[in-house]
Order: sequence, then structure tokens, then C-alpha cells
Amino acid sequence: MLGIETSCDETGVALLRWEPGAPGNGLLSHTLYSQIKLHAEYGGVVPELASRDHVRKLLPLVREALTQAGLTTADLGGVAYTAGPGLVGALLVGASAARAMAWALGVPAIGVHHMEGHLLAPLLEENPPEPPFVALLVSGGHSMLVQVKGVGEYKILGDTLDDAAGEAFDKTAKLMGLPYPGGPALAKLAEQGRPGAFRFSRPMTDRPGLDFSFSGLKTQVLLAWQQSDQSDQTRADIARGFEEAIVDTMIIKCRRALQASGAKRLVIAGGVGANKRLRAELAAAGEKDGFQTYFPRLAFCTDNGAMIALAGAIRLAHGQHQDETVQVFPRWDLETLPPAM
Ligand code: ATP
Ligand code: MG
Ligand code: FE
Repeated sequence: MLGIETSCDETGVALLRWEPGAPGNGLLSHTLYSQIKLHAEYGGVVPELASRDHVRKLLPLVREALTQAGLTTADLGGVAYTAGPGLVGALLVGASAARAMAWALGVPAIGVHHMEGHLLAPLLEENPPEPPFVALLVSGGHSMLVQVKGVGEYKILGDTLDDAAGEAFDKTAKLMGLPYPGGPALAKLAEQGRPGAFRFSRPMTDRPGLDFSFSGLKTQVLLAWQQSDQSDQTRADIARGFEEAIVDTMIIKCRRALQASGAKRLVIAGGVGANKRLRAELAAAGEKDGFQTYFPRLAFCTDNGAMIALAGAIRLAHGQHQDETVQVFPRWDLETLPPAM
């Protein structure tokens, strides 16, 4: 299975020979090109530039992935691509290329839901999680708690009411003057911050429910930053306080979701899943409360082709693939996916 990811600002390609139970479930190779530098001077992703860069990079990356795996296109049994959600132009680049390749090779094309890709990414690791589990999906565009009974059997337990977790990291970093994309930089800075120097609220934890809201936290940081001496140490202290607030909030909600669903396994995925404090503290909470935590490796937390190849391979193994039209879904509800059975 060839996997192609082009939903936003990363071009990701991977090859996988679906082998349930094999190490990495049969991942053979993966390549990635990040457009971060291209968008940095604008302070955010410029959709038209993203599409054009996917056009430039996609086929060279496909060749590279094939070379790495020692395969040719004749070895392909299917082509999976991200069909949504994401930027429409960027999605269309991957979808058109994937559909054309599949048509030329006479193999099926599989349109994958980007968030299902993120959700299944821990299956690329050793000791993959078995459903049922709860998934915390925290990325640039989403903050969700999902009850997973099986592949395609998803119930959204909680969602964000405003900013996604990654978006909150990025915007907060920006307002303290960190360059785009600020999330990872803010997390790094937080390592030098002093614990307790700044304390921000844990939004929406004082009432029942599993939804998230992070935009108020961003405003609290803005006020604290404006009223501070704006020194390097203060910036790090605020970053630390912000990260602790986000991580605490997520732990509280994860505990609630596990309790509500009765699940004993927690999957953490999406770009913010790369956050060290989140990983460490959720693993510690799991040891204390008796639930098992599962994370993708850092490179598979953010966007990548491997998760798309994997989701596509599972779908195809259950006889699911697209017809010959090229269709993308910039907005696409995870709960509407068919079960893979
Ligand atoms: P979506 O998956 O919702 O469509 P996306 O694909 O843009 O959004 P991802 O690639 O999954 O998002 O993740 C990128 C996000 O993860 C960015 O917002 C980035 O700031 C955040 N991120 C990456 N590393 C870290 C980290 N160590 N700490 C906190 N946030 C991080
Ligand atoms: Mg990205
Ligand atoms: Fe993503």
C-alpha cells in the first residue's frame, strides 16, 4: 500500500505491506517534506502555496519511498490518500495523483480520513493498542476525545468549542513573539520555565463534560505577557505555566472519558501528542489509575504518510475502496465513517 498525505503543509509518503501482528504492521519506508520554511514568513499556512508545493514534491517523494523499500510501482496493490478533512487544494493534489496512479496501475484507491490516520498511528508501533480504547486526538485543527470500539466505530465524547490544542500552542507562542510554527518552540521554552511562576486556569474542568476550550487561556497568557517585564526568563515561565494548564486539562478530561466509557486503554495521537510533558504525565496517570497509554513515535504524531498507508491498508483488507471519481472532503465528520468489518 502506498500512502499519500497532503492535507495541509506536509507532503508525506509511505509504503506498507499490511501484516497484522508484524513489527510496525509491515511499514516498509516513509518520506516527508515539511513546508514550514515556505509558510514561516507569512506566519501561517498559505493554502495556494501549499498546493503548489505538494505538486512539486509529491512524485519525487513517491520515487524516494519506492527506492528506500526496494520496490517499483508494479509492486503496488493499492494507493491510499488523505481525502479530508483539510485544505481543499492541498487535498486535491494528493487525491488526483493517487487516483491517477491507481487507475494507471489497475489497483484500488482508498480515500482516508486524516483523523482516522492520526488515531490509528499507534498501530505502527510495538505493542499496538487493541480496541476498545479512548483516543485523545490533539492536533493543529482538532482536540477530540473519541471512543473507539473498532476501526470505523467512533463516538466523539468531547470536542473543542474554539481553538484546537495545537492552534492554542501556536497562537500563544506567536503572541509572545516566537516564530511560526510556535507550538514545538513554546514546548521547548517551557522546559526552562520555573514551575509555579505563573498559574493559568484549567478551562472547563470545574463542570462536568468532555469538551475543551482553549481560547480563554490564550487571552490569560496575553494579559500576563503584556503586564510582565517580557524578559527571556518570564517568557519561559509563562510558557511553562501555559503548558502545565493545557496538560492538566487534558489529563482531567482523559480520566473522565476513560471512566465514562469503561475503557482501560488510552491512545494519544496528533501533533500535540509529541509534547513531552503530555506524554510523561499521561503515562504517569495511567500507572496510577490502572490504564495503559499508547503513543505513536514522535515523527508519526504530526502529519505523515505512514498513518495514511496503514488506515488505507486496513480499509482495503475489509474490501473498502473508492470508485473512479476524484473526491475530497474539506470538512468531514469522523462519526460518519463506515465500520471496517
Ligand atoms: P489536523 O490534524 O487537525 O488537521 P494538522 O495536521 O495541522 O491538523 P498535526 O500535524 O497533527 O496538525 O500537528 C501539528 C500541530 O502540533 C501544530 O499545531 C504544532 O504546534 C503542534 N505540536 C507539534 N509538536 C508539539 C509539541 N512538542 N508540543 C505542543 N504542540 C506541538
Ligand atoms: Mg502540519
Ligand atoms: Fe494532522
